[in-house]
Amino acid sequence: MNNMYADIIVDISHEALDRVFEYRVPDALKGSLLPGMRVRIPFGAGSREREGYVIALKDKADYDPEKIKDISGILPDSVPVESQLIRLADDLRRLYGSTMAQALRTVLPVKRKIRHKTVTYVSLKLPKDQAGEIRDEWDRKHYRARVRLMDRLMTRPEVDSKVLIKECGVSGKDLKKLEDQGIIRMESSIRWRKGIAEEGRPVKKPPIPLNPDQQAIVDSFLMDMEKGIKKTYLLYGVTGSGKTEVYLALIDRVIRSGRQAIVLIPEISLTFQTVRRFSERFGDRIAVIHSRMSAGERSDQVERITRGQADVVIGARSALFAPVRNLGLIIIDEEHDTAYKSDSTPKYHAREAAIRRAELAGASLVLGSATPSVESYQKAVSGEYGLWRLDRRAGAGRLPQVRIVDLREEFLHGNRSVFSEDLKEGIRERLSRGEQIMLFLNRRGYAGFVSCRSCGQVIRCPHCDVSLTYHRDGSLRCHYCGYQTPYQKLCPVCGMPHVAAFGLGTEKVESALHAEFPQARILRMDADTTRKKHGHEEILSAFSAGQADILLGTQMIVKGHDYANVTLVGILAADLSLNSADYRSAEKTFQLLCQAAGRAGRGEKAGQVVIQTYHPDHYAIRAASSHSYEDFFEQEYAYRSLMGYPPCGHMLVILIQSGDETQAVLASQRIQKIIAQSLETSGEKVSILNPGGAAVARIKDVYRQVLYLKGTDLSVLVDIRQRLEPVLLHHPLFAGITVQFDTDPMNRY
Ligand code: ADP
Ligand code: ZN
Repeated sequence: MNNMYADIIVDISHEALDRVFEYRVPDALKGSLLPGMRVRIPFGAGSREREGYVIALKDKADYDPEKIKDISGILPDSVPVESQLIRLADDLRRLYGSTMAQALRTVLPVKRKIRHKTVTYVSLKLPKDQAGEIRDEWDRKHYRARVRLMDRLMTRPEVDSKVLIKECGVSGKDLKKLEDQGIIRMESSIRWRKGIAEEGRPVKKPPIPLNPDQQAIVDSFLMDMEKGIKKTYLLYGVTGSGKTEVYLALIDRVIRSGRQAIVLIPEISLTFQTVRRFSERFGDRIAVIHSRMSAGERSDQVERITRGQADVVIGARSALFAPVRNLGLIIIDEEHDTAYKSDSTPKYHAREAAIRRAELAGASLVLGSATPSVESYQKAVSGEYGLWRLDRRAGAGRLPQVRIVDLREEFLHGNRSVFSEDLKEGIRERLSRGEQIMLFLNRRGYAGFVSCRSCGQVIRCPHCDVSLTYHRDGSLRCHYCGYQTPYQKLCPVCGMPHVAAFGLGTEKVESALHAEFPQARILRMDADTTRKKHGHEEILSAFSAGQADILLGTQMIVKGHDYANVTLVGILAADLSLNSADYRSAEKTFQLLCQAAGRAGRGEKAGQVVIQTYHPDHYAIRAASSHSYEDFFEQEYAYRSLMGYPPCGHMLVILIQSGDETQAVLASQRIQKIIAQSLETSGEKVSILNPGGAAVARIKDVYRQVLYLKGTDLSVLVDIRQRLEPVLLHHPLFAGITVQFDTDPMNRY
């Protein structure tokens, strides 16, 4: 038999990834050993044994084979969560392309370098009379600090040691000494850092009785659970149809069966209000994980999960890897959201990773959305996923009435304003009735681009291949690298004083609103106004509390909150996302419009939506205005299958980056050649689409070349990538070139 070796780590954490030990796989274990398995290994001097985890198997050793020891055996107990996560890392690495270390870093919790915040409570150990004698003795010896301490402890049962040190003037050493002498007792407990800003302890509330549609879904889930069926379900329910109530009910059942749940929510919707609905149901047995929290907050939450103190983990994408011991259910809310695709290597999609984690854990997976991804809906109608539907809004409120406004006609009729006549009228009405309005524009800053009217020169970032954006403070900014320069009227090319800003941004709309509706109170929410840690929350809470009439913002305003008083939603330029030259642009536009429309009429009052567009007949816009997902899906699916785009085919993006433009281009050509040759020999059908510079061909002085590969069979694309990887890593021609892979991308490169 051939030799086989295993890379083993003895400690599960990021830091330990650099300390990988090689062992030989004895013949008896060949065939049964897999990455993730727990094994016993001889370790260090003598015959001491330790436990380790296999992270990779290989047929060549990096070290002297003579000196490599044998694995002693596989640990027999059931697969622990760490093993599942390592298996998952191995799958992600294989499917999306990365080193094992990168994949492990994605799934394993960061090692806790951060110490817990603890509180130490001090109390008297001796009976009061004895303590009193000691106090009097100290008093005679003029131990002032100790006397103050004693007086304090004799009147109050437990005091925080920090308070004692500060207020009585004793030292930590003193306290320790007194503890050793048996005079006082010190008890420490962990003060857990919170996952999300909370206003006091959650008060549990009884659940809302489910309506028949919701109940039917819960019943069907229970039936599957009883039969031991574990699968993926798509919960397709219009906005406000009560999906969250269904999640709560499902989680409740899973917890009662002794298991736990993970709920993924897009980062931007992960607010205090969202989390509160969970804590009202499950009290403090929830943990929250998101990227805005500090390392300390995060490691505390992870430790609570490890200690089994949470039944529900709520978080953004990476919460999928929470070390939940007995996982019974994963829920992905807003499953269509592009935030579920990781933008660092391995560029995994949380939906695919969740399917795998659920399989490994024997858990079920529920995907929820009002506008499911084409991928998921297709799988649901074809029977691969279970399909659950909620067609009506659950509480008060009906779906809003939608009007499409053709901006070309507005222009013809002489309306040069940002707002169509319909929208202006609508805003005026709401203002007079004291109702609220949300306006949506998918571009921040003041204007889209800046150019010279005289020679046409567009003012660009010196480090990136994009135009600069004009901001109202008089600066021109690059939204890719943050470069800033003051605005100047003089053209750097022709020298004429005709440089001006064109196009629309949120800042400009804000000024236009002030001019048109001087009495209106306006809040703006975009990347510029939400830099602070709780920036989002502050703006949304203020709006929710009625401190403004109009909330204007980029796509960050279309998610999450329920505002009963919002009766008008205006979409200022629906075309911005339609024009983005990406095969998903129609889907993204449809989703954005539906989500935005879903904000209107969530309360008792009827809602209205105005969509302004230059393409009133586009199917994405038509379907969104009639709230018809099916219409949209039919047309979109036809387009995807005609073009062979996902889910009717697969894509692999190869992004080639270098600080040297020529090197980047050369590398790209070489890669193309390698791929073409390997396709020739295998006879597989894969097309390479318009190779060349990426959409933004330079960012921060790094040149970006991109290759799009398209094929029907995912495994063929995976194969191509796996054959390329070692060449890119070892061949001198690719030294200094960074190559990244993205399988079934969600964004354009
Ligand atoms: P979704 O998650 O689909 O947007 P939610 O679960 O947030 O929907 O429900 C929307 C609104 O309807 C919420 O205010 C919720 O309290 C209410 N709701 C949900 N289910 C019911 C029900 N069975 N009876 C009454 N109101 C409900
Ligand atoms: Zn730049």
